[in-house]
Amino acid sequence: MKQGLALRLFNSLGRKLQEFTPIHPGKVGLYTCGPTVYNFAHIGNLKTYIFEDILRRTLEYLKYDVTHVMNVTDVGHLSDDADQGEDRMMIGARKTGKTVWEIADFFTNAFFRDLEHLHIVKPTIICKATEHIQDMIDLIVRIEKNGFTYFKGGNLYFDISKFPDYGKLANLNLADLKAGARIEVDENKKNPHDFVLWFTQSKFEHQAMLWDSPWGRGYPGWHIECSAMSIRYLGETFDIHCGGVDHIQVHHTNEIAQAEAATGKKWVNYWLHGEFLVTSNAKMSKSLENFITLNSLKERGYDALDYRYFCLGAHYRKQQNFSFEDLDAARTARNNLLDRVARLKKQSDNDSSEPIAGNALRHLESFQENLLNDLNMPKCLSDLWNLLKDEKIEPHLKLRVVLEMDKVFGLNLEAAHLEDVVLNDKLMRLLNERDEARINKDYTRADEIRVQLEDEGIIIEDTPDGVRWRRK
Ligand code: AMP
Ligand code: ZN
Repeated sequence: MKQGLALRLFNSLGRKLQEFTPIHPGKVGLYTCGPTVYNFAHIGNLKTYIFEDILRRTLEYLKYDVTHVMNVTDVGHLSDDADQGEDRMMIGARKTGKTVWEIADFFTNAFFRDLEHLHIVKPTIICKATEHIQDMIDLIVRIEKNGFTYFKGGNLYFDISKFPDYGKLANLNLADLKAGARIEVDENKKNPHDFVLWFTQSKFEHQAMLWDSPWGRGYPGWHIECSAMSIRYLGETFDIHCGGVDHIQVHHTNEIAQAEAATGKKWVNYWLHGEFLVTSNAKMSKSLENFITLNSLKERGYDALDYRYFCLGAHYRKQQNFSFEDLDAARTARNNLLDRVARLKKQSDNDSSEPIAGNALRHLESFQENLLNDLNMPKCLSDLWNLLKDEKIEPHLKLRVVLEMDKVFGLNLEAAHLEDVVLNDKLMRLLNERDEARINKDYTRADEIRVQLEDEGIIIEDTPDGVRWRRK
């Protein structure tokens, strides 16, 4: 690593770039809010998990020993983040005729399959909300003992007026909050931004998941699980907490209030938030059902890593617009990259461990500088391409630096093989040729190509949305 470089991250708490210093030298505690498993993750959610993976890989590249904890929300997340609406799991169950437990299992498995295909490193600890109800109850008891709660209408509420730092993450002003509140008012709440820690009175009688508690049989509010599980696995103060920007105002603000009201200590040192993926400048959202899944991209012939490459094209703190044109460009660029790496592998019979020097070192150092400057992936990608195009560097040295950079990109370049690249090129050429044949109504030629592709192990289907293909 270049001398004198330090990792700088944009901390949402205080809204500025800060040098990263862990609590325990050489170790990092990292918590990332996980999925609510009532539906597939959409590619917007996955953008956030890719950003968090880049962060984790960067910390590991810097030789930190990272404990990464991710929760799975399988209870208590209402259709509105601020206590309104119905439990999202119940909505999923009603739509499909399955039990909430079956829904949770199915979508949890689908989620982790997506992460694997995106080459996202598995969290060190994955914790389900339903398996940590006692931790949540214990934390709520501490919050109650410290005088931050009230019980009204069958539910236990967090009283934000008792917690003067309530708005510190989102830069909210408590007085403004009260005056300007536009959210639906729960008449039990003293302040519209108070939130439920434990429900015993559900508006929905068919609530399926219920537990005994000191406040009666019921279920936890959504926010408490992250405070309780992160404290359980990472301690009462830890290094980094991440999520998407939508969570700053309510979810993360409430998580901080709960944790700090219980312990009396600062809870998290660095807060990092990923900006949204948008479609034609509208937010992609599970509840709006305008979402695209990773599977639907695969059905259209994209590889999950094409999407990963696409996400690397924008800084994590910038909104990114999704379009198939840009995804196509990412696919072409990734195929070129694989092609180049595969060729480098063929040319590098020399397995030397000579030090990285000269131009190769210059590109690597530029990459490190951009990486450590708040994870600037677009600039890091330029460094990768500058390296590849630099004719003064020996292939084996180039390959070593590429693979070094890929520890962070996570594009699985190690696995690039010339045969795959050739197959991909051929496949794309044949698919295009078949499209043209169909446009020209030359169905005999189109069928010939279909058979030829089948021999290569590729099945194609014509659908109203266009041609889809999959491997046999
Ligand atoms: P959820 O399953 O709804 O709790 O969301 C999982 C993660 O995806 C959270 O960190 C959200 O902040 C994030 N997220 C939700 N929608 C988007 C989007 N359109 N673009 C990027 N991240 C998102
Ligand atoms: Zn959370």
